[in-house]
Amino acid sequence: MQALKVTCKVCGTEFDLPGDVMDGELTSCPTCGTKYVVKITKDSVTLEEFKGDVEDYGE
Ligand SMILES: [Zn+2]
Repeated sequence: MQALKVTCKVCGTEFDLPGDVMDGELTSCPTCGTKYVVKITKDSVTLEEFKGDVEDYGE
């Protein structure tokens, strides 16, 4: 499965998600650090800004 390209809504950076990323997984923009929840639909992948607690995620 090939990598999935997404675009940060905040800074416009394009970055790749692993091909095995799952719906609902957390990711963050490598440039500005904005956190996103990955939304996978039938044939597209979108990012939704994550607004919850992130204490267990990241660094
Ligand atoms: Zn960004």
